[in-house]
Amino acid sequence: MSIEHLKKSVRNVPDFPIPGIQFKDVTTLFKEPENLNQLSKELIGIYKEKGITKVVGIESRGFIMGPIMALELNAGFVPIRKPGKLPAETIEESYEKEYGFDSIQIHKDALSEEDVVLIHDDLLATGGTMLAAYRLIKRMKVKKIYINFLIELEELKGREYFPQDVEVNALIKF
Ligand code: AMP
Repeated sequence: MSIEHLKKSVRNVPDFPIPGIQFKDVTTLFKEPENLNQLSKELIGIYKEKGITKVVGIESRGFIMGPIMALELNAGFVPIRKPGKLPAETIEESYEKEYGFDSIQIHKDALSEEDVVLIHDDLLATGGTMLAAYRLIKRMKVKKIYINFLIELEELKGREYFPQDVEVNALIKF
């Protein structure tokens, strides 16, 4: 099975959640067992030799493949969540969205300076969410950070916001 097959399994929903947005629906990708299996194999192929110790998933669609990767990589899983959801002490980063601002949080003790971190989300659009996650984890002084998406919307050029020395991967490109 090919990446092209995975791409065809992503449902495009026009004008969701607001007019003008072409929403990439990953539920149709995840519901097929062979897709899940291939996604997992492709991702592990990229990261198995990198010494990843923690996979950090971004709420909420980063919580699907994130733990699967963590399990396969013998790494731990750490969530980044929206404000008010994590119960213990957190650190926070704010970022600008199309309308207004948003914030994300991580537990202050979730990562250590020994960690090699893979940050994962389902989709790269403008890059604002992932850049905030990257900044958050950078503050925790971990050893190294990798960034992964299942899907990249190339024309939005979100990739350009990340520093040159950070490896950014996306499996499916639109
Ligand atoms: P951004 O911060 O603009 O890169 O947006 C990334 C986040 O918003 C991801 O967590 C995506 O799940 C979601 N998102 C943004 N645009 C889309 C889209 N066209 N289709 C599906 N999800 C999207």
